Amino acid sequence: MADLEARGALSARPKSERRRFAVGGIVQGVGFRPFAWRLAGRFELTGFVRNTGSGVVIEVEGEPDNLDRFEAALRDEAPPLARIASLVRQEIALVEGEPGFVILESSSGESMQTLISPDIAVCAACLRDIADSANRRYRYAFTNCTDCGPRYTIVERIPYDRPFTTMKGFSLCPECQREYGDPADRRFHAQPNACPVCGPKLELRDVSGLRLEFDDEILAAGELLSGGKILAIKGVGGFHLAVDASNEEAVQRLRSRKGREEKPFAVMVRDLAAARELCEIGADEEVALASPQAPIVLLRKRADLRLAASIAPGNDRLGVMLPYSPLHFLLLREGPEALVMTSANFSEEPLVADNAEALERLAGIADAFLMHDRPIARRCDDSVVVQLAGAVRMIRRSRGYAPAPIRLLESGPPVLGTGGELKNALCLAKGGEAFMSQHIGDMKNYEAYRHFDDVAAHMQRIFRTEAELLVHDLHPAYMTTRWALEQGKPTLGVQHHHAHLASCLAEHRHSGPAIGLMLDGVGYGTDDTAWGGEVLIGDAAGAVRFASLEPMPLPGGDAAVRQVWRTALGWLHRSGVSPEGLECFRQPQAAQVLEMLDKGVGTAESSGCGRLFDAVASVSGLRHEAHYEGQAAIELMQAAGGRIADAGYSFGFERQHGRWLMLLSPMLREIAAAVRAGAGATEVAQRFHRTLVGMLAEAAHMASHETGLKTIALSGGVFQNQLLTEALAHNLESNGYKVLMHEQLPTNDGGISLGQAVIGREFLRGRYKGIMNCEL
Ligand SMILES: [Zn+2]
Ligand SMILES: [Zn+2]
Ligand SMILES: [Zn+2]
Repeated sequence: MADLEARGALSARPKSERRRFAVGGIVQGVGFRPFAWRLAGRFELTGFVRNTGSGVVIEVEGEPDNLDRFEAALRDEAPPLARIASLVRQEIALVEGEPGFVILESSSGESMQTLISPDIAVCAACLRDIADSANRRYRYAFTNCTDCGPRYTIVERIPYDRPFTTMKGFSLCPECQREYGDPADRRFHAQPNACPVCGPKLELRDVSGLRLEFDDEILAAGELLSGGKILAIKGVGGFHLAVDASNEEAVQRLRSRKGREEKPFAVMVRDLAAARELCEIGADEEVALASPQAPIVLLRKRADLRLAASIAPGNDRLGVMLPYSPLHFLLLREGPEALVMTSANFSEEPLVADNAEALERLAGIADAFLMHDRPIARRCDDSVVVQLAGAVRMIRRSRGYAPAPIRLLESGPPVLGTGGELKNALCLAKGGEAFMSQHIGDMKNYEAYRHFDDVAAHMQRIFRTEAELLVHDLHPAYMTTRWALEQGKPTLGVQHHHAHLASCLAEHRHSGPAIGLMLDGVGYGTDDTAWGGEVLIGDAAGAVRFASLEPMPLPGGDAAVRQVWRTALGWLHRSGVSPEGLECFRQPQAAQVLEMLDKGVGTAESSGCGRLFDAVASVSGLRHEAHYEGQAAIELMQAAGGRIADAGYSFGFERQHGRWLMLLSPMLREIAAAVRAGAGATEVAQRFHRTLVGMLAEAAHMASHETGLKTIALSGGVFQNQLLTEALAHNLESNGYKVLMHEQLPTNDGGISLGQAVIGREFLRGRYKGIMNCEL
């Protein structure tokens, strides 16, 4: 009987078909189901949409043309936060008597595979709500909708439902509940949905933790900032320390209280127009600034910059971001036009995210606290990007990007890459995707170690997987190495620059082999010395060390990273040049350091390219002491004024220990002679960059000549140097090479955990060979 009726229905509407779509990717908690509901209405389809363990399933029934249009719109008009990774279509039997299209509750019992969206800047529609005095969310600092707002930072566990987020303590009022339940509403199933009646509330506290009573906390906070006070402001992924960016005295007070001498601060300005008044902004940079990820964009300062000079001293770039939470918008509309907004922490400790922790740890820095009662489950720093060599590239990948997946070339078993010691971010490879954590930072203290431990557990929990292998750096003293070895699981130690190479290849879904130019400050080598100027040839399974910079002595080891004049003396000594008459020789303790060098004690060997920049900066008289990592290198690049000389210094190659050494002594000798003859830092910097480009390109040609490879991967923190990177990439590309550079991931150590994870998979496949000697 039912059969007959079904056939009857078929003959009545011969054109009807029913299709089932399985949609994978970031499709939950991003307004995907109401979106499907609206489309079904538009194309007059019946059926249902439901969240499942692996994404979203939609069944729709109607005329084939409309079904086609529905599918196209599903892809083309997906909500801003959704990312469709896969869409599988299936023809299925018609269902009789379906009244319309419905949104079904989540199916339970299946293992969850869905992705958690990163946190997204407040959208235009929500901004209109908070600016409209007739709207019930007028001036409400926690306004959000399915297209915007906090996500990753509020997730405690999965599935992504309000009771499993830090919104669990706030019961929806009847009006918010109505929005939450109405598929036609912008806030349908927006888990952080809130209003002034039922949602989080702001409070202002003084240094002793006492609540300051004001009718309007935002106005009061704006006045405190305008009066030069330092405010700790609770944001999306943690606290910021904020001061009026035009108040020199206040900015200096923040520096001295925070123990941060010269490292640049980022600023947040009202809008794009305000950003343009401070910096030169290109089209791609503008897109990045105004994007839903709302990162800090490193921009070129205008000559007439009207901000406190101590925000980014000696730096021709300024980190700028636009407001990304409703609270920021309201503060910048009513307080100072530009605010220094720096992560609230002591030097290298993790970002402060908890109210009680803020009152305790920031008591010596902040004058007052603007906070709220929505807990932060996951701390997440601001992300940083820069336009370089034709693309906007990541410097720090965190809020707005984490934990969005990186698609891999191949699927494989779950592996965790623990990253390095500095700028740490871990990576969980699962199936065909890799999930990079937010920036965890410098792993130099117990707090960072705990934060790392917490993120590693959380990532495995929310992605419902347990790593079969933990991959760590070869450095035995790294906290991440110790963590991996303490977990009681299989581990693999991987050479630092091999991980850089594998990461760059993985990001480009390139199987290799390729020639890798790996340039950074330091990475532990297989010979127990510090590497960092390496030409590797290989892939994720293994690589040969084809060439390296000539190793040079670092007198005092780690002390030389800060006191870069020590490096200068070491390199001059090795190059057979007397430092007398040069500024680096006039530093206190220079005589002792030379004595150490003569006796060959207390020095470590390094082929680190970052150290080369340090040495040249000091020999040229530009800088002898670095107050933050990379400072000497940044200033040496800036000294060149954006220009590279036509002719460089001498360089050479020498075969030693089964590899080529790129000889630096000839250049060091010529630089010392030039400086003695009165050459300024600009000339030295322009010729130095030319030399480096020439030497690296020559090394790449030699490697290509030996192997026939024409693909060159660039990775390592040195490639944040715009002058070097652009000139080298141009040189290589004009010689017919394909150049791979990081874009989605930082080229610095913030990107190496991806490489570790894919190398780990090669190990599990039995293909791992590691670093091999070059026997070409
Ligand atoms: Zn919104
Ligand atoms: Zn409400
Ligand atoms: Zn590195």
